[in-house]
Amino acid sequence: MTAGTAIVLLTRDLRVHDHPALATTCAAFDRVVPLYVLDPQLAGLSANRMRFLHQSLAELRAELRERGGDLVVRHGDPVAETVRLAGEVGATAVALSADVSRYARRRERRLRAECDRHRLHLRLFPGLTVVEPGALHPGGGDHYRVFSPYHRAWAALRWREELAAPRRVTLPDGLDVGRLPEPPAGDSPEAAPGGERVARQRLTDWLPELDGYGDRHDDMAGDGTSRLSPYLRFGCLSPLAVANRAGDRSGPFVRQICWRDFYYQVTAAFPEISEQPYRRGATERWRYDDDALAAWTEGRTGLPIVDAGMRQMRAQGWMHNRARLITAGYLTKHLGQDWRPGVGVFFRWLLDGDVANNSGNWQWVAGTGNDTKPYRGFNPVRQAERYDPDGAYVRRWVPELAEVRGKAVHQPWRLPDQLRRTVDYPPPLSVPDTDPAWLR
Ligand code: FAD
Repeated sequence: MTAGTAIVLLTRDLRVHDHPALATTCAAFDRVVPLYVLDPQLAGLSANRMRFLHQSLAELRAELRERGGDLVVRHGDPVAETVRLAGEVGATAVALSADVSRYARRRERRLRAECDRHRLHLRLFPGLTVVEPGALHPGGGDHYRVFSPYHRAWAALRWREELAAPRRVTLPDGLDVGRLPEPPAGDSPEAAPGGERVARQRLTDWLPELDGYGDRHDDMAGDGTSRLSPYLRFGCLSPLAVANRAGDRSGPFVRQICWRDFYYQVTAAFPEISEQPYRRGATERWRYDDDALAAWTEGRTGLPIVDAGMRQMRAQGWMHNRARLITAGYLTKHLGQDWRPGVGVFFRWLLDGDVANNSGNWQWVAGTGNDTKPYRGFNPVRQAERYDPDGAYVRRWVPELAEVRGKAVHQPWRLPDQLRRTVDYPPPLSVPDTDPAWLR
């Protein structure tokens, strides 16, 4: 062990288990300051995520206190606050989990420059993904552009060892740990709570369902997916630990975790993912219709499966993956609207909203991203009939249609006149110049 003090700057790695930066620093230094800096730049992005973040920080503080330490909380610019605190406690090193978004990369570059200036040793660690972005690349390329070969290489790789939570965390004496504000109110009444303990419990409760995942993950009403995404987003769970506990690397569940890693390595190589089309040569001719965008955002397009998805997101801060595919496909492929405002709406509401997965998936749906068949057709009614065959998902989220039985709920414009008149639900948005068969 090195005598001395180090800072672990926490960002979206809010856990004590399998935390390479924290575990390695605790093993190497005799005093460790786990630090979180509330950056006002990020405060207004999403009320839902802000609430989840604060709940996760409160749990992390409790976990660190149980180990004799604490979570030190500061407000302001993370770089300036880290360097200031390092001076205050006489730290010689800073540890940070490497991240890929443009904001994170810029923060890392600035931190490195300031650490150099103050003779602090900055060390980056893995931990936000199972396999680090950049660890795998195809012959002749800097990153994988296609998922299947990435998945094969990913599954065949020797993964790093999982690390135990540190047994003791020792802070320097006399340090003001700072107050953690009460969790702010979020926007979604049914949003899941944040934190490592809830996350670990959720994983334990869900793992027995794993066997049925392949058959049930697309059943929208069945709700058979893990709902671990917000916990992975904030690092309340280690993705490596989740993948290890799930086991089969080629099985359908771990394959989804691999999609997450895939988009991280895409974003590391293409940080413009939220603004620029990823695919070279992608043509972009979008419509811009604020009224249609508002109807989509608020779940009143008149297409029940789309409205159901959007309303689930607003109520829970989470949306079923199949509903994300349908709502995003509807905006871009049916309404023909730009994917970027769609990214923005999801980013505001989703607890799991993150740059790599949100923008990566949106680009996939819009045909500007990693899909090897970017021009595939889109029929939301067929999707609805396939993945919500009895209409239960729609009836749950669109109560105006609660009385419509069976799959007829997916096309209320086709209901007999007498029944249609009793239903208070708008007709489907009309799109100039197109008249798809499923709307007739
Ligand atoms: P499960 O089915 O239980 O899957 C387990 C984990 O695998 C998830 O928690 C998630 O971390 C990962 N995963 C699953 N599907 C994907 C995928 N397609 N891409 C990347 N990772 C995946 N996921 C986010 O985490 N953040 C986002 O901002 C996000 N935005 C999306 C936007 C669109 C338009 C679409 C189509 C998908 C988006 N996804 C996003 C991916 C996916 O919808 C969610 O990860 C998933 O619905 C989360 O639910 P779950 O935890 O129950 O997933």
